[in-house]
Amino acid sequence: MAVVARRLADLGTENAFKLGDDIQTCLDRGMDVIRFNLGAPDFRSAPHLNAVAIAELEAGNSGYCDPAGTPSFREAIATHVRDTRGIEMTADRIVVTPGAKPPIGYTFQTYVDPGDEVVYPSPGFPIYESWVTYVGAKPVPLRLEEEAGFAFTADDLAAVVTERTKLVIICSPSNPTGGVLSPDELAGMAEVIHTRCHPDVRVYSDEIYEHILFDGAEHHSIASREGMAGRTVICSGLSKGFAMTGWRLGWAALPTVEEAAMFKQLNINTISCVPPFLQEGGRAAYEDPATARVVAKMVEAFEQRRNWIVPALNSIEGIRCQNPKGAFYVFPNVAGACERLGIFSAHRALPEAARAASTPAGMLQMFLLYRYGVATMDRASFGRIGADDQHFLRLSIANGMEDIRRGVALIEEAVADVEGFARFVDEEGLLHRS
Ligand code: PMP
Repeated sequence: MAVVARRLADLGTENAFKLGDDIQTCLDRGMDVIRFNLGAPDFRSAPHLNAVAIAELEAGNSGYCDPAGTPSFREAIATHVRDTRGIEMTADRIVVTPGAKPPIGYTFQTYVDPGDEVVYPSPGFPIYESWVTYVGAKPVPLRLEEEAGFAFTADDLAAVVTERTKLVIICSPSNPTGGVLSPDELAGMAEVIHTRCHPDVRVYSDEIYEHILFDGAEHHSIASREGMAGRTVICSGLSKGFAMTGWRLGWAALPTVEEAAMFKQLNINTISCVPPFLQEGGRAAYEDPATARVVAKMVEAFEQRRNWIVPALNSIEGIRCQNPKGAFYVFPNVAGACERLGIFSAHRALPEAARAASTPAGMLQMFLLYRYGVATMDRASFGRIGADDQHFLRLSIANGMEDIRRGVALIEEAVADVEGFARFVDEEGLLHRS
């Protein structure tokens, strides 16, 4: 007998939260840490939305509410989905969740049996792979290649779907790459789903970064392609686009009322409901025209930072960085930096278990954090399966310009510090972490 159930061994995690312990260790050592690791806007929620939630709370809207979400908020979300995706959507197909993360687990619990194949982007949000293994499904990572701007084509998808595919996950704009799927790419994918997949196969379209697009681009959803609304779970929320991560407001738009009832039941079994006074703030986010101006200002700031950081990273020997089209991350290739610092040979020299538990980019991540006070996320934090030959870091640009400039200068210094890395290997027992 064991205290902890066996299945928990198959549950992954999100290192962006776990890295907090390492950052705390650095702070306790008296270091200053620049946080490129955080997936949260450095903006506050808009005052006009805060005011709505506060007023609701003071008016006594503080009890339980409909487990699927308040009717007014679900109505606002349904209108938003109709207006932005050009599809039919009704409030009875919307389920409100505490953030955009729960619908991922709900999707696996609703649709995926052990042994089913699940196609998901890699690199991708780590919670996808975590749930694949947790429910005993077969992971089928769909590799996003740097050369293709981290997009993937219909042919790439066609190469991995089989008759055992049950769920296909896509995420655009993407965390961690900032890649955005074009209408043509989405159309090609929809064609593959129609022609190659059983009608019961569902697509999970993670659109949490729908508001954060650069160069004047507009958001496109696979659900808008012909015939796809009836087989796509659209998931989004207010965390990123409206800088409301702590409010925990997310939602899923389900293909049918019956499937929405399953998500509602999962809410009943876990959280009962999302606080109603917060949902009123969420409703205002979609309905008050003032919100669009606030969002536009934030996106403009992200775009300016992207325009600065991409060339700055590319000017560092050993780093190569694509230009993200959305979200607030850059995902530079650091293979050259690992080579320069001797990380590949240091990694090869690790004892077998330590080598298996770490990656070269993960060692660079720890060196940057513990010696230069720069917190980043390594490639393995975004799906480990089949990613051994990929060497990337993710940097969040949801940071003030001054920190971004300072952080990049420190990275430049660090990747030239061959002796410093060799000393780090000798001094620290931290290299096993990834
Ligand atoms: N999906 C993706 C792709 C994300 O990046 C995140 C947050 N990092 C989530 C879902 C979860 O969002 P939330 O904080 O609203 O739960």
